[in-house]
Formats: sequence, structure tokens, C-alpha cells
Amino acid sequence: MQGNVILVGAGPGDPGLLTQRGREALSQAEVVVYDRLVSPAILALVPEKARKIDVGKEASHHKVPQEEINQILLREAQAGRRVVRLKGGDPFLFGRGGEELELLAEAGLPFEVVPGVTSALSVPAYAGIPVTHRDFCSSLHIITGHAKAGAKLTIDFEALKRTGGTLVFLMGVSALPAICRGLLDAGMAPQMPAAVIERGTTPRQRKLISTLEALPQAAEEAKVESPAIIVVGKVCTLSEKFDWFDHLPLKGRELVVTRPKERMGSLVGKLRALGASVTEYPCIATVERVENPALDAAMEALSKYRWLVFTSPAGPEIFMKRLLARGQDARAVAGLKLAAIGPKTAQTLTRFGLRADLVPAVYDSDHLAQAMEDVTGPVLLCRASRGSDALAKIFLAGGIPFDDVACYDTKYEMPDAGAVLPRLAAGALVTFTSASTVEGFVKSLPGVDLSHILGICIGEKTADKARQYGIAVRVAREATIESLINTIKEV
Ligand code: SAH
Repeated sequence: MQGNVILVGAGPGDPGLLTQRGREALSQAEVVVYDRLVSPAILALVPEKARKIDVGKEASHHKVPQEEINQILLREAQAGRRVVRLKGGDPFLFGRGGEELELLAEAGLPFEVVPGVTSALSVPAYAGIPVTHRDFCSSLHIITGHAKAGAKLTIDFEALKRTGGTLVFLMGVSALPAICRGLLDAGMAPQMPAAVIERGTTPRQRKLISTLEALPQAAEEAKVESPAIIVVGKVCTLSEKFDWFDHLPLKGRELVVTRPKERMGSLVGKLRALGASVTEYPCIATVERVENPALDAAMEALSKYRWLVFTSPAGPEIFMKRLLARGQDARAVAGLKLAAIGPKTAQTLTRFGLRADLVPAVYDSDHLAQAMEDVTGPVLLCRASRGSDALAKIFLAGGIPFDDVACYDTKYEMPDAGAVLPRLAAGALVTFTSASTVEGFVKSLPGVDLSHILGICIGEKTADKARQYGIAVRVAREATIESLINTIKEV
């Protein structure tokens, strides 16, 4: 099979700004070659089995020389692999994307380019600066502030001043004093509004709004570091009025999410959209039981049951998948009543055209059990191997016949503790969406003092488990993701 290279722009940092096409390319990649500017949240989207090659460039020295990067791309594609070359922002804007395609074109290897959201436009946007505005300017200029090693800047400041347009400088942190000096010497007003924005679009974004004259000192005092962009022009005055990102309710808040990888997305996405800095730390995994004679036997005789009960979204997913694989379909549960532990599980049922007949008022196993106290059996419980015994107790007490079938096992994962420890030290809150995520979290950090951690728990059972390990807790009012997020906002 012939390999290929897709040059993908990863955007400025916020994973939400990776394009749809970029996401697709990443999900199919066998090899991903990436830069320093690509954020961890985007690297988390790289499939586990794909090989990751870090060719990250440091500001002063190139970690992997450009020549060698070109060779790596050529070699991997020639070996028949699907290669994604992931670059910060847009690959063709000061990204050397052109140079990297040169060899591939010569060798006749197929390649594609997926443009990215460039930092030059998006970073100002996240700082409340529209790069053009009819009242202020009629052009935009994007300039590199990087000079070839040992050489002086070769920017025509007079020409830039004459345009009267907004000026955006990339790679300009170390040259900031020279850039401002150059513009002042070219006759630009010392009071011209100017800004520098560091780590734009990420939860650690910082912005400084100043004037052309005062910016270098302000940046030095604030210890501004790369990556940062410099914006010069009257549009900078709008920054205060249009600032939306810095005002997000969870802006700058550090959070650790411990749910299974396949369930990360919804919670993580919502938290990031609220401005939080989220570390994905999956502590458990849901593993379907491939050999499952008990479930097969139950599916063989579904019509004998009156109720079918699910205690997590994984339940209906695994149940319906197996039903279809066996040659049956949703009609096999047509005569059964369906119970779901909470709204998310009920919503998962609707994906299969099914509606839950019962959802308890409080979304936990105790309340589900109470709500089922008077049902007529037999009941089929389809859930994790290590489930709560509340349901079994109620059914036994009421003489209701039931089968408790394990559909999946909860496995403890060992995520990389090195990534989470600094975040915990920085005061990150940890979200727990089940008692098993607490177990998994504790197991992954042997010997670590957990007494300074605040856990945000989805319900009482989860909170009890956290307390057992000396973790302080706040409990969501309702066992839903929305309520969990509201609890975080209140901390
Ligand atoms: N191709 C990239 C730019 C590469 S040059 C793009 O289209 O965005 C690298 C420079 O981009 C950095 O020195 C910095 O000036 C800018 N940059 C990239 N990401 C940034 C971010 N998140 N915040 C601020 N500046 C950023």
C-alpha cells in the first residue's frame, strides 16, 4: 500500500479550533510528527496505536533540523504509512509547510494540506481584538519578528507605518524592543495602542494592553514568554470591551478528569468551553465481556422478563451491540419495561429507538432500587461486574425474581502520574463520576498524600469512597454532569 502525508494545521492551542478535516486525518494516522506548539489536548486525540514523533522546535535551537524532518516524512510515507504532520496554527503561515512538501513532491508521494486556524487571527480574537474594524483600519499585515541567526531584523518599518493597518507580529518576543523602536523611528505615534498575548486561546492565556512606547517594558516586567503575538494598531483599544475569554466562569481553573477515555469527551469539552484547564487522566476503563454465556442465555429468553435495568450508559451500548451481533434487534425488548439509573442512560437508550419507562428521582442505585420495590419480575439487570448490591437486596426482600448479568468489567488504568502531579500541586480540583474512578485515582498515585485534594463528586456513594481515602469532597446536587459543573463553579 502506498503511504501519504497530510499536513495538518492544529490551530493555536484550544482543541476546539482544530478543524473537522484535521480531526479525521488524525484519527486515521499511523504516524504523527508534531511540533512544540501543538497542545497536549490535541495530542490526546492521536490514536493510541499511532507512533508519535516529537520534532519540537525550541526558540533558540532546532531540536530536529528541518532537513531531518523532511527526511522523516519521506521515509515514513515511502514505508507505506499514513503520516500526519501536525503543525501549530496554519501550516503555511510561517510554518515551513512548503519546505516539508518539497521532497514529497519530488518523490511523487501523495500529500494533502489541511489548513489550520492561525494564531495571527485567533489569538487576538480570544483577547477581544478584532484584527480589522472599519472605524480604525483597512488592512492587516502579518510579519515575522524572527531574524535569521545572528542577523538583524529586516523589516521595512516605514512601509508598515504608511499602510495605517493593523500589524500582527509572530515570533516577536525577543525582538519586541527592536520592533517597537523600529516603528517609533519610522514615525508611528508613541501612544499607538499595542498588545502582547501569550499562550493565546489556552486556559493560560495572558494579555497585556499598552502603547507602542510602553509595551517593551510592560512585557519585560510581566516576563512574557514565547509563544506570544504582538498586535499594534487602534483595534487594540477594543480589547477591554470585547473581552469574553478572560471572563469565562472557569477561566484559568485547573481540573483533572478521571472518567474512562471513551466518556471523557462530553465533560472535558464542556469544562474547556467554560475556560478551564483540563488534564485528562482516565483512571478506569469499561471492558466489554467478549465471552458472556450468561448474557447470551438471557438474550435467548428475553421474553420471559418483565423489566430490563441499566445502571450506566455503557449498559445499553453493550447490550444493543451484542443483540445486533447475535442477529436480533430492538424488537427483542419490545415487550419489556426499561429502567435507567439516570438521564444519560435514558438518553443512550433513545439512540436505539427505546424510551426508559422508569428513571428514579435521584440518580443512584439506592433510589433506583426503591423505585423498583413493587415491580413485577422477573427482572434482568444488565450492568458492571462489581455493581452496588442495593438492587439485589430489594429484589430479594420483595421476592422479585431477577438475573444479575455482568455486561462489562471495570478495569483500573494506570495513567501517567507524572502529568497529573504538577497539576495537583497547582491546586487542581479532581472530578469523580463514580466510586470506581476514586479507586482508580488512588491506585494510580501510590504513596501520594491526598489530603490536600478537593474532589468534586457526582453523588454520595462516590463521595463516601473519596472520604475513605482522606480526600475532601464537594458533592453535586444531582448526579448529572451539568450539576457537577455547577458545583465546580461554586467552589
Ligand atoms: N503557523 C503558526 C505560526 C508559527 S510561528 C500559525 O499559523 O499560528 C510561531 C509563532 O506563532 C509563535 O512565536 C507565536 O508568535 C505565534 N503563536 C502560535 N501559537 C500561539 C499562541 N497560542 N499564542 C500566542 N502566539 C502564538
